[in-house]
Amino acid sequence: EARIIDGRPIAEQLQAQVAAEVAQLKAEHGLTPGLAVVLVGEDPASQIYVRSKGEKSLAAGMHSVTHRLPEQTTQEALLALVAELNADPAIHGILVQLPLPKHLDQGPVIAAIDPAKDVDGLTTINAGLLASGLPALTPCTPLGCMIMLRETLGSLSGLRAVVVGRSVLVGRPIAQLLLQADCTVTIAHSRTKDLPAVCREADILVAAAGQPQMVKADWIKAGATVIDVGINRVPFRDPVKAAAGKTKVVGDVDYKSAAKVAGAITPVPGGVGLMTVACLLKNTVTAAKRIHGIEG
Ligand code: NAD
Repeated sequence: EARIIDGRPIAEQLQAQVAAEVAQLKAEHGLTPGLAVVLVGEDPASQIYVRSKGEKSLAAGMHSVTHRLPEQTTQEALLALVAELNADPAIHGILVQLPLPKHLDQGPVIAAIDPAKDVDGLTTINAGLLASGLPALTPCTPLGCMIMLRETLGSLSGLRAVVVGRSVLVGRPIAQLLLQADCTVTIAHSRTKDLPAVCREADILVAAAGQPQMVKADWIKAGATVIDVGINRVPFRDPVKAAAGKTKVVGDVDYKSAAKVAGAITPVPGGVGLMTVACLLKNTVTAAKRIHGIEG
């Protein structure tokens, strides 16, 4: 039976490290890292994420502002807010919560964020820096995956890693980080032929496809480390609960069977998802230090 990689203590440790670093920046440099989160509309999952980002950044001693804009916000108004935050010296990190309402065009909004404040790592500049192996602001969930892998395995050098998913937010940056850690990396996706066989090659299998419980036990090499990034809402199997419209969250991995084969595995919920906000705070501290030319 696999070792369970519990996200809670790892995320708490990171949150504590960030808080200590914020205290040090305040004491030694008079610098308070500041995070601005922008939420447009009423998406219920986004509301929860945004609240947590605000609360955790305050708890770490940071300056934190949340801009809640109405659903009908125009592209121009959103771009104007981003420009204002780019120019605000108290703000070092800008996060526009995705997805945006359908009438807004995401690309130009992301492109408008100053790359130095792009704590979600979504601008082309940061993606390019990451792909070039240069210091970049890196998407938060991929950073969280790497911290969990290092905690579990120590050195990743020479290991075979397979990432299922090639999104700009998750799959691609995870693959880049694994490459930087000297893994031999394969990126699989919806067009990959014989995906189970590709996955079976992996010492490290990262599932980020957004497909509930797709990865089965017989896709996993015995003893492999499995990182499940998926967050999928599905109806309960119990017909009574399902009929009541109740849903539960499952990952991209069929956890119960996979845990019998894997060496270590992240649960969903309670795994990667807990790391994302702590990594956002870490990125905000990194951004503040770089903007102010503080080393380390
Ligand atoms: P996405 O839809 O943008 O990308 C999914 C990727 O998976 C695509 O590249 C696609 O090619 C691939 N894919 C889809 N179906 C596939 C299949 N059947 N076989 C192989 N590959 C397939 O999603 P995303 O934004 O990358 O997110 C992936 C998952 O991670 C989602 O479940 C999302 O909710 C979750 N997520 C979790 C966190 C977190 O904090 N833990 C953060 C972001 C996303």
